Amino acid sequence: MDTVLLSDSAADIEKAAELIKNGQIVGIPTETVYGLGADASNEEAVRSIFAAKGRPADNPLIVHLADFSDAVNYTSGIPDLAFRLAERFCPGPLTIVLPKNDRIPMVTSGGLDTVGIRVPSHPVMHELIAVSGKPIAAPSANTSGYPSPTSAAHVMRDMNGKVAAVVDGGESQFGVESTVIAIESADTVRILRPGCVTREMLLEVCGDVIIDHAILNELAAGEKAASPGMKYKHYSPKADIIMVEGTIEAFTKFVSENEPEKTYSLIYNGDEKYFPYRFMTYGGDSLQQAHQLFSKLRELDDIGAEKVYVRAPSKDGVGLAVYNRLIRAAGFEVIRI
Ligand code: AMP
Ligand code: MG
Repeated sequence: MDTVLLSDSAADIEKAAELIKNGQIVGIPTETVYGLGADASNEEAVRSIFAAKGRPADNPLIVHLADFSDAVNYTSGIPDLAFRLAERFCPGPLTIVLPKNDRIPMVTSGGLDTVGIRVPSHPVMHELIAVSGKPIAAPSANTSGYPSPTSAAHVMRDMNGKVAAVVDGGESQFGVESTVIAIESADTVRILRPGCVTREMLLEVCGDVIIDHAILNELAAGEKAASPGMKYKHYSPKADIIMVEGTIEAFTKFVSENEPEKTYSLIYNGDEKYFPYRFMTYGGDSLQQAHQLFSKLRELDDIGAEKVYVRAPSKDGVGLAVYNRLIRAAGFEVIRI
């Protein structure tokens, strides 16, 4: 199939909406990362998303709506806390897991009786949902396991020939996928996947916010994942990624003793003045690191890096999302110095 590159003009969004209405899949910009969108209620279309990505069938897709009030059409019983969270964080990078109704097929939810609902703020994505009149199921638009795409060029790289079109809506604002939460009780939520809506932000609305064990820890063999995506090796470039946790002085000493001539390092902006070996930087604070992480991992592949030491990010605030992606990219290989 020929993949058409569309712009973010109203005429092109109309074309993309037509494709979605006709059961095709389209690469679409969102404020988190680029998604691979299709009509969430069309089983055949949803199956072709799984096929294009090579995604395991038990890894559920998030369903994107134009307004949170539409969630009543696809779920059964929305707790009051979900409405309060939506009031504060929708539209935006928050996904709320809710009990699904039968308008969401089991293929979409990866066999679960729940569905993750998100209301994206990106104007192109918002228009696409509104113009198509469809709930849009959209996982990240990367080949399964590879770093998520944050530009239309990344999507073209992974999906050219596999999808009907890609809409270019510019670089993704946040750069990491949405925060996924489950409602635990009347006043408590559990973060299943960290993102740019942080625990601290959720605490403005909730009495308590639990951080799921699987966010920072490898699941034991046979352990059930609350968030199925957390059980796979993920976000991983071809290069071997090793996280090294410590000050830039300790990091530099570590690299100096571990084949600096054969490796690259991914360090913070500002670290480079202390660092005499081959490097790339990925931002100076957590928001910048979230924004840049996936494109830097892709760039490291482009330059042929085989082994990369990453100076581990902070786990505070948005940093938890960056740490969570990197620890998976590293296959949980962390060296603490
Ligand atoms: P992606 O589509 O690549 O952004 O990944 C979406 C992730 O959100 C999945 O891998 C799951 O970990 C999580 N997720 C989506 N829907 C659900 C759900 N119904 N229950 C629990 N986690 C979910
Ligand atoms: Mg993904």
